[in-house]
Amino acid sequence: MAYMCELGSGHNIYLENQGSQTFVTSLVSSLGQQQQSSISLSTGNWIALPEMYRTPHGAILKITTAQGEHFIQIQGSSMSSMTSAPSLSSSQQMQMTQIARMPVTSSIPTMEPMQPIPPLQPMKMGNMEMGMNPMEMRMGNMHVSMGSVSEPTQAKARRFCSQCGSATKQEDRFCSSCGHKLA
Ligand SMILES: [Zn+2]
Repeated sequence: MAYMCELGSGHNIYLENQGSQTFVTSLVSSLGQQQQSSISLSTGNWIALPEMYRTPHGAILKITTAQGEHFIQIQGSSMSSMTSAPSLSSSQQMQMTQIARMPVTSSIPTMEPMQPIPPLQPMKMGNMEMGMNPMEMRMGNMHVSMGSVSEPTQAKARRFCSQCGSATKQEDRFCSSCGHKLA
C-alpha cells in the first residue's frame, strides 16, 4: 500500500512501507520536466497512517512505527531525515491519498521473500553391498582380513602378487590372476 500527497505546484510526494523500509519519492513536474528524488529509511513497520504537515519552508512527513516516530523534512526536491521531532502544533496537516502502488520505479530493487529451503531427505543406505571376497580392510597398521579362516596355518607362508594383490602359491613363478612375474 502506498500513499501520495500533493504539495502543490506540481510537487507530489509518494511514500510506501516495504518491510521495515520506508521509501519516499519526491516528484516535481514543471514545464514538461520531471525532477525525481528518492530516499529509503529503515523505519520499521508503520503502525499508523503517514501524516504530512505544511511548514513555512516546505513540508514535514511524519511516519509512526513500532520503533517510534520518524520525521522527514521536504524542501523542494530534497528530503532529509530529521534527528529531532519538530513542533507541528501550528502546522497544517495535508491530505494524504491512498494509491495502489508507487507510480515511479524505485531505484532500490525489491527483494523477493526468501523461499524456505525444504529439509534434506535422509540419505538412503538401502542395499549397500560390498562385493569383495575375501573382504579386506586396511586402516593404518591395522589389517583385518576375512574369509581366509580356513587356512590360518598357511597364512605365514602365503604370498601376494605385487601387481594385483591376489594370493599366490609359494612355488608360483607367475601370478595366476594377472600373469605378473613374481619375484
Ligand atoms: Zn597378479
